[in-house]
Amino acid sequence: MRAGALVVDYDEWHRSWSRDPDGFWDAAARELTWFEPWSRVSEVGGPEQGGAHRWFAGGKINLSYNCLERNIERGFGERVALHFELERGEARSFTYAEVLSEVSRIANCLKSFGIAKGDRVIVYMPLTPQGIFTMQACARIGAIHSVVYAGMGPDALRHRIEDAGARMVVCADATYRRGKVVDLLAIVDRAIDGLSVVENVLVHRREAAAPLGTRHRDFENCVRPQSPVCPAEHTDAEDPAFILYTSGTSGKPKGVVHVHGGYGVGVHLLMRHYYDTRENDVWWSTSDIGWIVGHSYICYGPMLAGCTQVVREGAPDWPDAGVVWSLIGKYRVTTMFTAPTAVRMFMRSGPGPIETHDISSLRVLYCAGEPFNPEAQEWAVRHLGKHGAAVVDNYWQTEIASPMIGTFAAMTVRPGFAGKAIPGVELAIVTPDGREVPDGHGGLLIMKRPVPYMMRTIWGDPARYQSYWSKTLGGYVTGDIAVRDAEGYIAVLGRSDDVLNVAGHRIGTAEVESALLTHPAVVESAVVGLPDPLRGECIMAFVVAKGPEPAGDAAAGLEAALIAHVRDTLGPIAQPSKVAFVASLPKTRSGKIVRRLLKARELGQDAGDISTLED
Ligand code: AMP
Repeated sequence: MRAGALVVDYDEWHRSWSRDPDGFWDAAARELTWFEPWSRVSEVGGPEQGGAHRWFAGGKINLSYNCLERNIERGFGERVALHFELERGEARSFTYAEVLSEVSRIANCLKSFGIAKGDRVIVYMPLTPQGIFTMQACARIGAIHSVVYAGMGPDALRHRIEDAGARMVVCADATYRRGKVVDLLAIVDRAIDGLSVVENVLVHRREAAAPLGTRHRDFENCVRPQSPVCPAEHTDAEDPAFILYTSGTSGKPKGVVHVHGGYGVGVHLLMRHYYDTRENDVWWSTSDIGWIVGHSYICYGPMLAGCTQVVREGAPDWPDAGVVWSLIGKYRVTTMFTAPTAVRMFMRSGPGPIETHDISSLRVLYCAGEPFNPEAQEWAVRHLGKHGAAVVDNYWQTEIASPMIGTFAAMTVRPGFAGKAIPGVELAIVTPDGREVPDGHGGLLIMKRPVPYMMRTIWGDPARYQSYWSKTLGGYVTGDIAVRDAEGYIAVLGRSDDVLNVAGHRIGTAEVESALLTHPAVVESAVVGLPDPLRGECIMAFVVAKGPEPAGDAAAGLEAALIAHVRDTLGPIAQPSKVAFVASLPKTRSGKIVRRLLKARELGQDAGDISTLED
């Protein structure tokens, strides 16, 4: 398959980086506006140094300034930055000049509550103008935002507030899920109950005025009277811009820290040259600000590139299967970013809804977040390709914040393969003792050296950051299993650890297990991922219940109660699809639960070597 016009020549990009890596990143950084120049492009350590790295040291830069003033200075002030389509049918557009005023008002409001450079602000908001503008407002004053997906439950939110030590929470009172109202304020109130660190909660009220408590302030009332002028803080290149929590193998989510400098340089470079953003392009990413894609390629990337984007709240198949294609036609969208789960959703509705809309503007559909199964990719190529669009895969993760592997729009597509290593990203596929595997053999995916757009540390836990770097394996351990072909295409097959990927969302088995353990009927639990035709994986929980093993109606009742309990504590994305009650869990002699065995048994597969099992 061959698709799309030439974006940027992969080989030339690769040559230009490998000839002079620092010179390459120096040139990439010069595309942005700096208040003060850097003295050194990179100071980079590999696994021997625990992966310590700094980029553009001494330079002063601000992410929000580069998204807003820089574009206004280039004459884009009257260009539409954002077309919002909100779930209740409301549509609103903002020019770059208008975004600057809105963001500045919120920034001044945050300052009026005493928020200053380095303070952490939790943003618990749906994909709304207020959500995106609040993130930009934090970056503008050098405060560190930490967005929590407005679908996570009170325990998940509370943990993040405490870990970040956030003095302020900015939230909405409600989000809408397929037409239903979800009371976010009630979740916030449960999360902050007894937490004295939170001084103020700024509430964007979307529903008819819910009564506010003593710590609560009304967003509109506080923001509207503020001045629309707020000069951007001259933050250091290495100052944190945000913390984004993600799941790992322990039950405790990790606060991934990204900075103003290297992050901005990388996101801008990839937005322009990998995602091929051109003058007059209209971008649309279907992610949410709660995820890294929503940070890099909704809140920051499109505005760093100075293009117009569509932002839409709501599921891609709601209220009907044609909504995505109708909006592409309405706004003449040129470039779209979504997840394979959405493509599988489109497949389920058949090509009919595509055929009845004009999607001729669409040049490329980028997919990421989970393995893109060849069947779904080929379906999309068949049905979008005939309208002119290329469909390509790219691979990255919260910690790296932008693509590490990608198929460029002008490259030959290999279904099942995410693409080639992005120039600047040095990858290896190795055995557990660190030997590189031959092409065509699977192994652990490693990044040999840091890139500027990757995390600097884990908030409050530098040792956890260092633990990503393995001397034995020779680099940063992605946690994924991959295979490379002779031409350098890499397929990412899945995780090598106890982390699940449900509809492109990363969920730690340990988090779900811990949530189950807080239910009084649960003695022990083990969670595994099973293949799911739509969402890639679904969650199955094995539970040892208190008392006799439940059966019949009692089992069905307890299963429903446990699913509801996980939904209530962690949020709907983490809820198991199925709970099975067992008398005991398979364990190694050292007491570790062997999830692999439970999964193999459920799938009717061979369990492999079980010689180290206790029973
Ligand atoms: P997150 O940090 O939540 O974005 O999840 C990152 C994880 O999603 C990666 O470590 C992979 O396991 C998976 N992933 C992301 N993109 C892809 C892709 N294109 N192909 C296969 N797996 C992917």
